[in-house]
Amino acid sequence: MSIKTQLAIIGAGPGGYAAAFYAADLGMQVTLIDMEKNPGGVCLYRGCIPSKALLHVAKLINEAEEADKFGINFGKPEIDINKLREFKNNVVNKLTGGLGQLGKQRKVNYINGKATFLNSNTLSVAKLDGSSETVEFEKAIIATGSIPARIPNLSINSNRVMDSTAALELSDIPERLLVIGGGYIGLELSTVYSALGSKVTVVEMLPGLLPGADRDLVAVLERKLKTKLNIYVETKVTEITEVNDGIKVKLEGKNVTEPEMIFDKVLISIGRKPVTDGFGLENTKVKVNEKGFIVVDKQLRTDDPNIYAIGDVVGNPMLAHKASAEGKVAVEAILGKKSVFEPNAIPAVVFTDPEIAWAGITETEAQSKGIKYEVAKFPWGASGRATTLDRNDGLTKLIIEPETERIIGIGLVGVNAGDLISEGTLAIEMGATVKDLELTIHPHPTLSETMMFAAEVFYGHATDLYRPKRK
Ligand SMILES: Cc1cc2nc3c(=O)[nH]c(=O)nc-3n(C[C@H](O)[C@H](O)[C@H](O)COP(=O)(O)OP(=O)(O)OC[C@H]3O[C@@H](n4cnc5c(N)ncnc54)[C@H](O)[C@@H]3O)c2cc1C
Repeated sequence: MSIKTQLAIIGAGPGGYAAAFYAADLGMQVTLIDMEKNPGGVCLYRGCIPSKALLHVAKLINEAEEADKFGINFGKPEIDINKLREFKNNVVNKLTGGLGQLGKQRKVNYINGKATFLNSNTLSVAKLDGSSETVEFEKAIIATGSIPARIPNLSINSNRVMDSTAALELSDIPERLLVIGGGYIGLELSTVYSALGSKVTVVEMLPGLLPGADRDLVAVLERKLKTKLNIYVETKVTEITEVNDGIKVKLEGKNVTEPEMIFDKVLISIGRKPVTDGFGLENTKVKVNEKGFIVVDKQLRTDDPNIYAIGDVVGNPMLAHKASAEGKVAVEAILGKKSVFEPNAIPAVVFTDPEIAWAGITETEAQSKGIKYEVAKFPWGASGRATTLDRNDGLTKLIIEPETERIIGIGLVGVNAGDLISEGTLAIEMGATVKDLELTIHPHPTLSETMMFAAEVFYGHATDLYRPKRK
């Protein structure tokens, strides 16, 4: 069979489905192609959503345990892993099924299969039902996303060695789990498995966890994580072999006391790589850079005038909301609008306990690029709301352009930091100054007040903290 479409989108993750729905809302005739039954992509099927469903349960377990301090004892939790897996799967099915419905309501033609470019305006789709379809398009958007990166010499074929997809399947709760990689995916999944009862060891090659986040934020998280996890930084896994009772791992690093350890399972979470192979890019003019990402301009146009690309496949940060925002810009560009993708801030959230979130410029980035900045910090030890939650382990900081007092970056660590960051992102995008934030009346007692308090710290008159401004 052969069809013609105005816009073909390959990949129905947060980039692809957001672009498809938006284009349909703007009156385009859209064909969306993905190998999954419904739209959702990595984020909904094996990323953001299943991980957050499990992290919610981890939080519940941890809070119940910590309630002991308040004189409330719930006892040791009994975990029914089948029921927990069912809960997580139901969340995924509800959301992906919902997206399927939303696509139908918008009359998006959803094809379930694998697309391959034949040339710059034709795709061949190998459908999952075994048939094939040719799709002739005026414009196409590539949104094929990313897959877990592998360490070639450590990748052994064993079901004891998992990537994030396998870890989220939750086939069992290993007694001893090694997580290779202290980035956000590794730490989020460590948090889940540790709450479920695994003894988790995290190994990171670099000197600190969460490269990219400011060290003062990470320090707060690290303190808490160390109460639950064994963490080795500046440590390398040099060899993995399957033995009778698990996986034997050789470690090399300055603080390693046991250079050989055995784990029941190993999770490799060392990053993700863009999906650019195996779907006929060579039959188009699309170019890929030395890091493997598709090259695009600020309108997300590739080197092929008919083809655009968005999401993880075009570069960092590999985040769902970045993919969706790019999708909208690509659609507008295709429709001839002058939109460009030039955000001042893309928020990043690590959903550990406590959460870490940042947006705009980080202090580390400002230092490395020689950008002049001032910092105002409000420690949550002085927050009434944090105290009522017994969670004073938090920090809110503003990164400020000295001459204009404009807020150019926000960093947060603490419970619900992921929700709090949106106010900061808006402040950066709106070009708000510290004064704007200080004069905005925030509700009491909330964690959001810490934004306003940090602004007060900048002027040297925070009500809840005595910290006069340095002259
Ligand atoms: C464990 C984990 C947790 C995460 N948590 C978060 C989080 O909390 N917040 C956040 O913002 N991000 C998170 N991410 C990242 C997020 O999932 C990605 O940034 C996001 O999914 C990227 O969207 P995308 O549209 O670029 O592509 P993807 O979501 O990767 O989707 C690409 C789709 O294209 C399909 N595809 C590929 N090739 C073809 C082809 N030839 N034909 C047809 N279909 C094809 C794939 O099957 C897939 O469905 C997480 C990722 C992981 C792995």
